[in-house]
Amino acid sequence: GLTERLQKTFRNLRGKGKVSESDLRSTMREIRLALLEADVNFTVVRNFVKKVQTRAKGADVLEGLNPAQQIVKIVDDELTKTMGKEATPLNKSEKIPTVIMMAGLQGAGKTTTAGKLALKLKNENKARPLLIAADVYRPAAVDQLVQVGQQVNVPVFQQGVDVDPVDIVKAGLDQAKKDKNDYVIIDTAGRLQIDQKLMDELKRIKALANPDEILLVVDAMTGQNAVSTAQGFNDDLDVSGVVLTKLDGDTRGGAALSIRAVTKKPIKFVGQGEKMTDLDVFHPDRMASRILGMGDLLTLIEKTQKNYDKKQTQKLTEKIQKNTFDFNDFLAQINKIQKMGPLKNLIKMIPGMANNPALKNANMNPKDMAHLKAVIYSMTKEERTNPDVLNPSRRKRIAKGSARPIHEVNRMIKQFNMMKNMMNKVSNGNMSGMSNMMNQ
Ligand code: GDP
Ligand code: MG
Repeated sequence: GLTERLQKTFRNLRGKGKVSESDLRSTMREIRLALLEADVNFTVVRNFVKKVQTRAKGADVLEGLNPAQQIVKIVDDELTKTMGKEATPLNKSEKIPTVIMMAGLQGAGKTTTAGKLALKLKNENKARPLLIAADVYRPAAVDQLVQVGQQVNVPVFQQGVDVDPVDIVKAGLDQAKKDKNDYVIIDTAGRLQIDQKLMDELKRIKALANPDEILLVVDAMTGQNAVSTAQGFNDDLDVSGVVLTKLDGDTRGGAALSIRAVTKKPIKFVGQGEKMTDLDVFHPDRMASRILGMGDLLTLIEKTQKNYDKKQTQKLTEKIQKNTFDFNDFLAQINKIQKMGPLKNLIKMIPGMANNPALKNANMNPKDMAHLKAVIYSMTKEERTNPDVLNPSRRKRIAKGSARPIHEVNRMIKQFNMMKNMMNKVSNGNMSGMSNMMNQ
């Protein structure tokens, strides 16, 4: 995949003090192949590589102090720019209600996202949204939206499946005016393929509702198809924004990269799970890091230099190599990483581990880190230095002491052990592991 390829490319560069013309050329070739392999649109790739190359040449890369880092930075930068540079907020109407219309293929996540968005607006804008059920092709679709509405405690306007969706929307908007809802979110039908009947219906709904925002919902897992879908919908509906769903899955970053470039429309939100809280504002810079899959390598290079002194690093490396890395070391690392800033994933910061399937669920957001710390603080001295003694009764005591559920304590210990073994393997197996990274 893209991630692995880029990692390999950058690993090759990292060892070098200077990058020659031919290094630059082969790096660009790798980047191009990697992006194509990740299903990024061909034209987008070509333009992207051209830009990076021009900048890399223009900058003092060839004589620079650390050219590899510069190229990484340029690629990161350009990826971010290609995806729109900054987060784009939701449109808002001057008078209520702000009307948001969902569009997209069947199964893309329209109904789910409508609910998520309603919840977000409620929580963050103190809004009083109304959901309108305008997918009349399956009775289950109306029921699904009603259920979603119940989950997020937002009213749903519906008239079953025997009424023309345009009439439903009209009646729903009247209802919203009566009830002074400040947001209206229209859930619409989708098909497995774009077809004329679907588009005509969506156009009629658009003409009637005059939405402030048409959110095109696209499944990120569908790669290149996501791009052609986005293009098709945008040609007919002139959408105002995109929601990229299912980014919690094993998706390649290709779709995110292409969609903005091809449609010129901003990605506004990303869906990262099936729960109603799993909707996040899209941040191009974060997505760039994700596509690069370098585990925030760039940040890491910069920050490790500031935060680690060589001696400590050496000590840590030794412990990893001898496999005596313990919870005290772990705690020290967590504290350092927390000091370094909002890096959400400890493991992802270690090159080569970002995509390790064994560690896929080892996410570490700030809250998880706090919980993890609570668990470690509840361990005795002995338990921290010698994690092998952590038998079930000790774990139970720790769970109580840290006020974390026992399964979470078990999971943390398991993840700790996996990480420890992994670091040990990487560190002893070849020099491209953690020790190398920290000594840069
Ligand atoms: P619609 O046909 O466009 O309305 O799609 P739905 O909202 O019914 O979603 C289809 C399926 O995708 C459902 O099972 C959702 O739970 C799931 N889904 C939607 N968004 C996400 C997401 O961001 N992540 C994951 N994992 N699943 C999602
Ligand atoms: Mg639906």
